Amino acid sequence: MIRQAIIAAGGMGTRFGEFTKEMPKGFIEIDGIAMVERSVRKLIANGVEEIIIGTGHCFAWYDELAKRYPCIRTVRNDNYANTSSMGTVAVCAPYIKGDFFLLESDLIYDAVGLKVLANDPRSNVILASGPTHSEDEVYLECNGDKIITRSTKDKASVKQHAGELVGISKLSKACLDEMMAFYTADASRIKMDYENVLASVSSANGGHSDIFVRKIEYYAWAEVDNKAMLDRAITQIWPRIAENESLWNVRREVLLNPGPSTTTDSVKYAQVCADICPRELEFGNLMEWCGIELTRFVADPSKYTTVMFGGSGTAADEAMVSSCVPPDGKLLVVDNGSYGARMAKIASVYHINMDVFKSSPYEPIDINALENQIKSGHYTTLAIVYHETTTGLLNPLEIICPMAKKYGLVTICDAVSAYGGMPMDLEALGIDFASSTSNKHLQGMAGIGFIVCKNEELLKQKDWPMRNYYLNIYDQYQYFLKTKQTRFTPPVQTFYALRQAIIETKQETIEKRFERYTSCWKILVDGITQMGLDMLVKAEHQSHFITAILIPKSPQYDFNQMHDLARSHGFTIYPGKLGNINTFRIANMGDIRPEEMARFIPVLRDYMHSIGQC
Ligand SMILES: *Cc1c(COP(=O)(O)O)cnc(C)c1O
Repeated sequence: MIRQAIIAAGGMGTRFGEFTKEMPKGFIEIDGIAMVERSVRKLIANGVEEIIIGTGHCFAWYDELAKRYPCIRTVRNDNYANTSSMGTVAVCAPYIKGDFFLLESDLIYDAVGLKVLANDPRSNVILASGPTHSEDEVYLECNGDKIITRSTKDKASVKQHAGELVGISKLSKACLDEMMAFYTADASRIKMDYENVLASVSSANGGHSDIFVRKIEYYAWAEVDNKAMLDRAITQIWPRIAENESLWNVRREVLLNPGPSTTTDSVKYAQVCADICPRELEFGNLMEWCGIELTRFVADPSKYTTVMFGGSGTAADEAMVSSCVPPDGKLLVVDNGSYGARMAKIASVYHINMDVFKSSPYEPIDINALENQIKSGHYTTLAIVYHETTTGLLNPLEIICPMAKKYGLVTICDAVSAYGGMPMDLEALGIDFASSTSNKHLQGMAGIGFIVCKNEELLKQKDWPMRNYYLNIYDQYQYFLKTKQTRFTPPVQTFYALRQAIIETKQETIEKRFERYTSCWKILVDGITQMGLDMLVKAEHQSHFITAILIPKSPQYDFNQMHDLARSHGFTIYPGKLGNINTFRIANMGDIRPEEMARFIPVLRDYMHSIGQC
């Protein structure tokens, strides 16, 4: 797995003349996006967690880019005017921890090149193409077993021609270390390009690194060094890249149901990976990384730990309810919707001593009444849903959980449809255990349920008798701690997708995700208000994640007909879920863009119009 990339972007781009005097070459736009930004997006979509950009000329442009892409770290090559690309690679080298991609900044390329390199079993591989006739070719020379010996612009001198250098490579840390040792050993090497340093450390030339060339004959790529190359890139190469990549697009379905939610194509493709035994350390490391990052979204990983199970969100709820009430404890469950009722049902199945505090499913909880109940009942544990997906009602946990803690209760929270959708800090909220799932706001695939646990409370469960086996939180926790394995087979491919979903969540940030959701929700609320439809819950008590809409009064209203019409336009909608109040619900969880919600509104309006509602 390639987790890091270096983009060497120190160059002056002098061959562009005035054009790049005040702007680095990488920021030249092709089809509306800077080359380097498109490259960054491709790296992220292919699972790269950290991108180190070595900057020099006009570095501030890259520092600005880094503000929009949290995975970017910029490192300045102060001596860029006196060095060449290796000088820029050198300033990035200290940040490299393992295998990485090395790219030039002024490239457009088909992302398949990254996949080909990542899937190549060899550690050090330089990507090459067939003839480009770009008039600025760098040729790679090899001996028989394709170890690079030289790169040169002089084609006539090349004995065994291995293709043209693209400017994308996959290298190991060991190779980079050897490159650095070579580069710094002699001051006369200061102006060397990285490709010539690579040739110098190649075992074909007496070095220790086996460096291979991987050629894709008809690879669509272009380097942009001057105006003529830019014209060629725009008119000939970019359309080819766009067409090739569009063939990977998965048919778009916009899921306006409350989970599983819409995912990106890159998350879908992350599931297509090599088979691996989940007891391998490589996979253990992946699960460990996921667990720590899932904690970090909502808590300090030194105080909280995430315990993961194969299962949907309800599995996480069941693990939490069955594991977190002490053997002689008493649970109070707040029920103001189906998911509160579900936690009470789970507790009853396990014969846990319990009371239920019932509250209206569409009006805020009466805090005083709840406090009186907490005071009176000798409870050890409070269970509550953060966001009641039944109605879209957001419970004020920032008031309720600290209040419960004041009376000494441990708080367990079904945060399944809140986690990842809005910023939250479990410690500040007074939440000891919070459940969620790999899907919903995380935008991963369904199949992993997890609980973020306060260590102090989790460790208390050590000697408690187990109420159930598969879903016991402490047992799963201690086994993973000892072995970096789950007790039973985890959903392997779902974990790879979760990893990608976490990378993308970190990229978007939870704050921005909430803003995107809120934009979608506002478009929806404006739209339905104009259609004369009413919402079940007052706007100020809503989550912005799902909206319960009272059904139209027209006797012609038929949910299934409305559903089928929406589905024929690529939108999936969901019926209501509340005993005697008739609603339908529109969620905007997942990878849904405001423009898609804006496209949904006319579809809904057409239906409402057809039944005489508007
Ligand atoms: C979606 C959801 C769940 C879990 O549902 P699964 O179908 O088991 O993934 C639990 N609680 C809430 C509040 C939810 O929204």
